[in-house]
Amino acid sequence: MPTLPNESHTSQQNRWPDWKWQLRHRIKDASSLQPYFQPTPEEEQAISNASFPFAITPYYASLIDASDPRDPLRRAIIPSIAEQYLGSMAQADPCEEDAHEVVPRLVHRYPDRALLLPTSECPVYCRYCTRSRWVGSTAPPINEDSLLNATQYLREHSEIRDVLISGGDPLLLSDQRISHILSSLSRIPSIDIIRIGTKTATALPMRFTDNLVSILRNFQPLWLQLHFCHPQELTAEVIAACKKLADAGVPLTAQVVLLRGVNNDTSILQLLFRRLIQLRVRPYYLYQCDPVPNAMHFRTSVQSGLTIMKQLQGRTTGFAIPTYVIDAPNGGGKIPLQSSYITSISDSEVVLRNYEDLPYIYPNTNID
Ligand SMILES: *Cc1c(COP(=O)(O)O)cnc(C)c1O
Ligand code: SF4
Repeated sequence: MPTLPNESHTSQQNRWPDWKWQLRHRIKDASSLQPYFQPTPEEEQAISNASFPFAITPYYASLIDASDPRDPLRRAIIPSIAEQYLGSMAQADPCEEDAHEVVPRLVHRYPDRALLLPTSECPVYCRYCTRSRWVGSTAPPINEDSLLNATQYLREHSEIRDVLISGGDPLLLSDQRISHILSSLSRIPSIDIIRIGTKTATALPMRFTDNLVSILRNFQPLWLQLHFCHPQELTAEVIAACKKLADAGVPLTAQVVLLRGVNNDTSILQLLFRRLIQLRVRPYYLYQCDPVPNAMHFRTSVQSGLTIMKQLQGRTTGFAIPTYVIDAPNGGGKIPLQSSYITSISDSEVVLRNYEDLPYIYPNTNID
């Protein structure tokens, strides 16, 4: 923990574990990064020109290795000069969420699931954010009218049985507000489960106070989807937060975006997923990076993603392997990708290749 200007070391030591202090002291300009690392002139320029806001909690900034200009967390959160390229194939709303926004702040794209976006604010702004058109904007947190409209829609559409609360980061709202939103949703009889997508476990792990954890426990079945990038994020604070949640019986899953120069490497992902299952966090999705404006430099080819998936398969615990997905353009939804293990298939036999690429013949049946 570096000593920040205008703060005595002791007062900072006391406040560092306070999530509200971390949020209030988010770094939003290049000069405030100095206690953590020296930004390059290109980074300074990229920060002042950034069209998508820049912010990072002091906690997350302290995880960046000052001696490594290629530090993966630095690449993911600190604007780089590559951001000046919009990218001709980029789409501001790559998954067509806006077109599926049925009432303000509620996206209904699948038959049985809906996505609620109560806030546009995040603890850090990931440079590759798929919702950068809206996240980090001045849009205020959801108000009571919008929440009522959203819950009314959910009541009228009883086919929706699963609501994912995302954003922005819903856990930046106050405990009281979170509790209110969860209780409004849990009173709808057709809703079986609620999920919250959050970056706080990674970028603001002190958010999981005893009070918040007891709120989350009260609204079971409530699943958390935690956003991770790299094993370097798994600090003592993150380990403690996951333990607290798992001990409280909150089911934990992880979502990771495949990012060039950050985590597009089998051994990095394998280590991340192995560490996550030790923390009782089940890797859920590995997302192909969407073609978002100013973030095209993060994208990898789909072939290289498939290669990584093939290298993971058979070499680590089955449930330490997430599903690799593309969130399809034009609102097509998430499409799972896997390199084919089937060489040929007929009524009598299936020819398969295993993780070592060895062929196996399996008897098929032609009776159904
Ligand atoms: C991802 C997503 C969901 C949840 O999808 P799962 O595959 O069940 O995790 C729901 N609605 C929208 C709009 C989404 O993008
Ligand atoms: S935490 Fe999620 S919503 Fe927020 S900036 Fe990162 S990717 Fe976007």
